[in-house]
Amino acid sequence: MFSSLNEQPADKILQLMQLFKEDPRDTKIDLGVGVYKNAEGVTPVMRAVKAAEKQVWEEQTTKSYVGLPGDPAFGDAMVNLVLGDSVARDKVAAAATPGGTGAVRQAFELVRMATPDARVFVSNPTWPNHVSILKYLGIPMVEYRYFDSETGGIDFDGMMADLEGVKPGDVVLLHGCCHNPTGANLNMTEWQAVVDLLNRTGAVPMIDIAYQGFGDGLEEDAAATRLVAASCPETLIAASCSKNFGVYRERTGILMAVAQDAGLKTLTQGSLNYLNRQNFSFPPDHGARVVTTILNSPELRADWAAELEDVRLSMLGLREQLAGELQRLSGSDRFAFLAQHRGMFSRLGTSPEMVERLRAEHAIYMVGDSRMNIAGLNKTTVPILAKAIIDVGI
Ligand code: PMP
Repeated sequence: MFSSLNEQPADKILQLMQLFKEDPRDTKIDLGVGVYKNAEGVTPVMRAVKAAEKQVWEEQTTKSYVGLPGDPAFGDAMVNLVLGDSVARDKVAAAATPGGTGAVRQAFELVRMATPDARVFVSNPTWPNHVSILKYLGIPMVEYRYFDSETGGIDFDGMMADLEGVKPGDVVLLHGCCHNPTGANLNMTEWQAVVDLLNRTGAVPMIDIAYQGFGDGLEEDAAATRLVAASCPETLIAASCSKNFGVYRERTGILMAVAQDAGLKTLTQGSLNYLNRQNFSFPPDHGARVVTTILNSPELRADWAAELEDVRLSMLGLREQLAGELQRLSGSDRFAFLAQHRGMFSRLGTSPEMVERLRAEHAIYMVGDSRMNIAGLNKTTVPILAKAIIDVGI
């Protein structure tokens, strides 16, 4: 049996991690994998997470199963964090999933179950796993223009022109904030235009929000998702706690479905529960319980938000420093977009050949599409990166 298996494509980012590990140069800089790292290169356990874990350990009396959609308290806390009071709670179905990836997967499965001929529109580029999961599930995918490599910003006219091609029932996948891999995001006027297009065409929005709090702040980063959820008849939202709570390996995420009314919400909730049952039964609980403990305790929540804000500001500071260095070295503003981008990533917008030269000549590791993890930098390595970018002639 096993001999008839095909070789699966290796994950490019994981391959890059391996190359980095094997590189003997002590000046090497890792801008590859998508985890937050502090100035010491460490991905820390957040203070509030440690405190909440201690509390859970002290108070938990059983590890028995919870429920197919996870603990309803987690659902309530996350609906509140992501959606605020933009929609009535009785219209929102929610199910915990193994990470944001699990939420994306379950959302696509729900789409396929409800509308078998729906196509999913994705930004070009998008998080590669979106494409990979859609292919795996056999769901037709259409790319819409998004990133403009010339300006480092959005090709909004191209995006809107391509989205005009949607049919009623098609799904448009949008990144709620901190677009991965580009770092370029729509402003609220552009979001409103997208909402108008969705409502005019009858396409269904699906928001992937994996970096709430990494861009402009916890509330600001949720604004677009809230606008869409409040304005469109139906919205799917896949949210991840991996980054903003730093609980990557605990696999903590949630799929929310905003329905037209409480009756359709109940129907949708049943389908979310069913899909969880088919794929893994009960979702992981530990990370979700820690997140719930934090969000429901005023002290832990305040401490978490403060630490997250420090993380956000440190990345913003690195962005500004990098844009400033490049401005100085190039004598031009052509890298100013790096300070405009938000979140952990920026796409430099250069060729794979240049990315390879940065690796070979300067021991700087970024993903082949020129995505850089800004959190892989610190105040000392920013000038080294800037000089390397100019040296190779980008
Ligand atoms: N969506 C996007 C856009 C992401 O960047 C990520 C993390 N790389 C995820 C979803 C899912 O993350 P996780 O499964 O680790 O929660």
